[in-house]
Amino acid sequence: MTELDRTGDRSPVPADWTYAPAPESRDIVRLRERYGLFVGGEWLEPSETYETISPASEEPLAIVAQATAEDVDRAVGAAREAFANGWSSLPGSERAKYLFRIARILQERAREFAVLESLNGGKPIKESRDVDLPLAAAHFFYYAGWADKLEYAFPNRRPKPVGVAGQIIPWNFPLLMLAWKIAPALACGNTVVLKPAETTPLTALLFCDVLRQAELPAGVVNIVTGDGRTGAALVEHEGVDKIAFTGSTEVGKAIQRQLAGSGKKLTLELGGKAANIVFDDCALDQAVEGIVNGIYFNQGHVCCAGSRLFVQESICEPVVDKLKRRLETLRVGDPLDKNTDVGAINSAMQLEKIRELVDSGREEGAEIYQPPCRLPEKGYWFAPTVFTNVAQSYRIAQEEIFGPVLSVLTFRTPEEAVEKANNTPYGLSAGVWTEKGSRILWMAQQLRAGVVWANTYNRFDPTSPFGGYKESGFGREGGLHGLEPYLRFDE
Ligand code: NDP
Repeated sequence: MTELDRTGDRSPVPADWTYAPAPESRDIVRLRERYGLFVGGEWLEPSETYETISPASEEPLAIVAQATAEDVDRAVGAAREAFANGWSSLPGSERAKYLFRIARILQERAREFAVLESLNGGKPIKESRDVDLPLAAAHFFYYAGWADKLEYAFPNRRPKPVGVAGQIIPWNFPLLMLAWKIAPALACGNTVVLKPAETTPLTALLFCDVLRQAELPAGVVNIVTGDGRTGAALVEHEGVDKIAFTGSTEVGKAIQRQLAGSGKKLTLELGGKAANIVFDDCALDQAVEGIVNGIYFNQGHVCCAGSRLFVQESICEPVVDKLKRRLETLRVGDPLDKNTDVGAINSAMQLEKIRELVDSGREEGAEIYQPPCRLPEKGYWFAPTVFTNVAQSYRIAQEEIFGPVLSVLTFRTPEEAVEKANNTPYGLSAGVWTEKGSRILWMAQQLRAGVVWANTYNRFDPTSPFGGYKESGFGREGGLHGLEPYLRFDE
């Protein structure tokens, strides 16, 4: 019980307003000691393994498979067989039933998945519970709806499935990225071999349980865990008809080079360095919340994070003051605590990358601010950080940091804001904060970004296509557009 202040004849109030811990129970998750490869509806014993840990405590969680090229070959074989022996010719209405089942099971088991996602990835439970899980289920619901309407989605184009899809996903939204990839692929009648990221394989492995529960035919979805070598083996495999990749621009470029001329379909969702642009007529407090959500959500491990803040010069001071005050209230710590706002950095390697870029910011002359906060001793942590006095040429204004680090820059006119915002090799997303509707529309037309949010940030919906310009990749996921990469058309 908090101590109470009894002053005079006023009602007693707590003397200390700090939050008591509110940890979510881990008991709902039953982890196995070892996981194999999910191929053809069975668990295969791997020849090589590695340990996956919790980034918040460095505690080992399970032993998982490091799939070799032979394992990938078996998975592709199982997917090909499932494609040829029934799945691709199943009526869309039947495929939809499986997708609806998967969506409902994900909803039923949402808490279990959310806890495991936070445990293995380090993200706050309130995010995995309120964002990742509802959105993952929503994607399966949404694409279930399209499965029997493809002829209407693409009239007179006779849509057909592509075949076996090889899908490679990153560690920032493990289950959600799985849903973004698997749901449209199955809705269109393809089969799948999916590789989760090395550091976050556990929710994909738990998802295999959901597939069995939904009685999805064996081989329609195969999950192979492992590091980049497993991903490379999947990309190289001749039996794969389409590659869908989300991850770094560097690996995306390598994949594109490798697939050039192969006839394989390819979609790439790569990095970003989004501009979040705040005009002097905006609702300031609302904008500050949007700035915080834009960069500190999921520890900034977000490809569309609003990592470059452009503030109109006349309001820079009050915005930065409010932002600093708001940062002091962010709670950094145990991802499983329901009060936590900023969780653990996903891996030691990522922490190293963030530190290196932050050091470069200091050395190049930017001014750093970090609120006072006590970081746990074990695990990988980085305090929410704001850089002011940032020049366009600094590395922290150019490169994707993929951590809780914001660079603040200024502008005077809308034209200057557009010029500076577009001055990046990336083009995934942007944010605009202003009261003027006409300015929002003008900015949205000028900004070279796949998604432009207005007076909000990091809003996702399965009906809305997501994807990039320039070095942020090509192809769209979500919405009607998200079906196209998984279809071929006999015209
Ligand atoms: P990667 O691009 O290496 O990882 C993405 C996925 O690709 C993972 O499953 C990875 O496996 C796999 N992979 C790695 N190498 C290959 C390869 N040669 N062929 C096929 N697949 C491969 O990103 P990192 O995890 O190394 O992160 C590095 C940086 O990338 C981050 O700091 C961030 O800036 C950016 N990034 C961007 C993301 C986005 O959503 N746009 C997501 C993740 C990272 P494995 O996990 O085993 O390496």
